[in-house]
Amino acid sequence: MTGYEIRIGLEIHVELATNTKIFCGCAVEFGAPPNSQCCPVCLGLPGSLPVLNRAAVEYAIRAALALNCTINLYSEFVRKNYFYPDLPKAFQITQDDKPLAVNGLLRYYLGDELMETQITRLHLEEEAGKSIHSGESIIGSEYTSVDYNRAGIPLAEIVTAPTMNSPAQARAFLEQLRLVLQYAGVSDCKMENGSLRCDANITVHPEPGMRVEKVEIKNLNSFRALERALAYEAERQVRVLERGGTVMPETRTWDERAQKTVRMRVKAGAPDYRYFPEPDLPPLELDAAWIEEIRSTLPELPLEKEARYQEAYGLSTYDTGVLVRAPQLAQVFEATVAQGRDPKFVANWVTGDYAHLARLGGTVSAEHFGQLLDMISSGAISAAQGKTVLQEMFARGVSPREFVAEMGFTVIADRDFLGKVIREVLTGHPELVERYCNGEDRLLGFFVGQVMKATNGRAEPRLVNKLLVEALAEGRNWQPRAE
Ligand SMILES: [Zn+2]
Repeated sequence: MTGYEIRIGLEIHVELATNTKIFCGCAVEFGAPPNSQCCPVCLGLPGSLPVLNRAAVEYAIRAALALNCTINLYSEFVRKNYFYPDLPKAFQITQDDKPLAVNGLLRYYLGDELMETQITRLHLEEEAGKSIHSGESIIGSEYTSVDYNRAGIPLAEIVTAPTMNSPAQARAFLEQLRLVLQYAGVSDCKMENGSLRCDANITVHPEPGMRVEKVEIKNLNSFRALERALAYEAERQVRVLERGGTVMPETRTWDERAQKTVRMRVKAGAPDYRYFPEPDLPPLELDAAWIEEIRSTLPELPLEKEARYQEAYGLSTYDTGVLVRAPQLAQVFEATVAQGRDPKFVANWVTGDYAHLARLGGTVSAEHFGQLLDMISSGAISAAQGKTVLQEMFARGVSPREFVAEMGFTVIADRDFLGKVIREVLTGHPELVERYCNGEDRLLGFFVGQVMKATNGRAEPRLVNKLLVEALAEGRNWQPRAE
């Protein structure tokens, strides 16, 4: 791949999370029985007229503001004409040369590097219906059914500049875009349900400035599919060029099973959609005050939150990354820290055991979680016991204080008893003791672990640590010191 420059642009369709469709009052509910959420308007029956849903406009504006776009106070709807069975009117109402928003910018991290990609435009349009083939694809199917429940769901189409230089960058962009849209509350962005869909275009340039043809890739249903399809396609195009061939402008699809892109159609000139202004909808004229009102309700967005966590709490980039990507974890973290607890201590527990248990299902209130952390940090119970308590809190919703009292959890802070355990551990590992005495400090962790194991995790770890350091300093003939 050396010597070639890759340029990638993305086109993303996001289903806006309104209660009803964009031009009629039909409900939008994922998984409803086929054709149960349709009316004359979204079925395109003669004589029916569209009425624009204010909430769809509001959600699109929220999305555009979260992506730093300029909102056009004047935009227009047009008809895009093409024939396909899932499009009952034989045209789609969309926006063309006067879109809702332009000139946005999204910042995101690729590894440790902060990147930015320009958003060329964001416009509103209606979703098409869904073809359901009797076989695996249209080829070889006996028949195809169409479900119009999806027809007329509001979509925001987001187009980026073709400036991303690697498949990994395109993936990082899309992951951040999804997070920002989720924070803005405009869509659930579930790629598996199709509420966030992405097409990509890619060109491979042998020399800067040389004109090359664009290849589009469709059917990218996951972040992994996006990254793999682009990597495959970049390599394929380089192979063609190395053989002295020419890359054809074409539309390809990602074959998940074969893990390769496959040609769908060769592009012979731009398709003629015969765009013309939608006669049944007036131009969309917005009030600047309404836009400012929407802007004022936008929450803190992921990058701002990340920066605040690092500055205000001194958290690592790893911890902030985990918290910011899972808003419910960030919420628990903030609520628990707000009561004056040590942020790093809280972050360790939230990104560790709490995150793991939350992934398995269930939730624990910040109040109960805080009580548990207080018992651990005060030494009333050990960290190992704390893990068990947290598991029970997730599994059965127990109160940590009551559960600890009920189970009789206590920590062992008896110096004589711990001294005896420590002596057994040290006499059991004479070689390691010698190595420690010769300067291998890191072995201390091993000895602590052995003592914790021998006490079923009930020993007070700080005391174990202290006693072990003393014992090892005095050699193997150590006796517990009287206080
Ligand atoms: Zn309808």
